[in-house]
Amino acid sequence: MALVVQKFGGTSVADIDKIKNVAAKAIREKKAGNEVVVVLSAMAGETDRLIALAHKAAESPNEREYDSLISTGEHVTVTLLAIVLNSMGYRAKSFLGFQVKILTDKAYKKARISLIDTDAIKKELKHGTIAVVAGFQGVDEDNNITTLGRGGSDTSAVALAAALNADQCDIYTDVDGVYTTDPNVCNKARRLDKISYDEMLEMAMTGAKVLQPRSVEMAKKYNVPVYVKSTFSDKGGTLVTKEDKDMEKEIISGITYDRDQAKITVVHVPDKPGVAASLFTPLSEHNISVDMIIQNVSAEGFTDLTFTVSKKEMKEAQKIVDATAKAVGAKKVEVDDDVAKVSIIGVGMVSHSGVAAKMFKTMANESINIMMISTSEIKISCIIKRKYTELAVTALHDAFGLEKKK
Ligand code: ASP
Ligand code: MG
Repeated sequence: MALVVQKFGGTSVADIDKIKNVAAKAIREKKAGNEVVVVLSAMAGETDRLIALAHKAAESPNEREYDSLISTGEHVTVTLLAIVLNSMGYRAKSFLGFQVKILTDKAYKKARISLIDTDAIKKELKHGTIAVVAGFQGVDEDNNITTLGRGGSDTSAVALAAALNADQCDIYTDVDGVYTTDPNVCNKARRLDKISYDEMLEMAMTGAKVLQPRSVEMAKKYNVPVYVKSTFSDKGGTLVTKEDKDMEKEIISGITYDRDQAKITVVHVPDKPGVAASLFTPLSEHNISVDMIIQNVSAEGFTDLTFTVSKKEMKEAQKIVDATAKAVGAKKVEVDDDVAKVSIIGVGMVSHSGVAAKMFKTMANESINIMMISTSEIKISCIIKRKYTELAVTALHDAFGLEKKK
């Protein structure tokens, strides 16, 4: 007997028929003799709807109430699934975060799980119950409801799998696995059978929407094998797992893009100690994450500083930077949200040379100007004009021969 955690995303629970389909998947595992824990997201679009409501109610909604409100989408789906399973003659019980209890820190909207009490779920599993757990939510030590950030039910599922020492963690979604790139952008995209945690993490962080980055971090930390599968078909699937020899043979595993990018340049800043700190500290105090940062070589004691933020946060970031730029004596602040980030990812980069050169050459051949570059051990990202995103992705996919399985 194995313990299986199954997670279903919003499109998989979008209506009652789909919830019945989820029930069938849970029952199939149950009938195979396994213990089953199902983690659900809210119905597709529901969390967005709740967020919009909160902002209609107040410009900056109280954080405690906001988290409590936006967690309710999952309340609906877990109870509906339990009702369906019960009506079909199966023991099933829904659990909200606090009922489990999924303890988190106090950071509303992006809380981190600190501990999961598995007693209540284990007790139910022993009785043959299918435990249906609300994803995305937890509770802090003062009983306030918290949420884990958008897409957080992936993290709930992996965390539960780790805490319960599950044999398997299946993430069911509307695509049948992880692809070399977005099939909507490049029709030669190929599904990967396997991908390493590190590559998956870079892909998730640079724009692949399939898994929340934090869930991958958690899977790696606790060595939870994660299977990304389609809710609507039994074919395919991608295993996210420890790196192995096969993976190293591939130079590049995937190409991602992110159109949610904006570039901010602080022009003609005095090049002296403390300037970067004064520019970036207020941003971090406002919880704005800065991605790439480039500082030009200084000339006559002045330099330009360019960095990227999420497009959604550009306005707020600009306001903050405008104020600090003035204070440190910069000439002006320029913003550009007509950009995108294209990244190539692969553990094979570590042992192959010329990967960056090949990426840049490919862009040059398409006459795409690279505005910013950043690298990690297994990733190279470029900021380019947004309208070239698809062209860049397709050209890179060809250049690195990703369509063919080697
Ligand atoms: N319902 C939440 C969201 O839309 C959590 C999730 O889908 O994983 O972000
Ligand atoms: Mg998701």
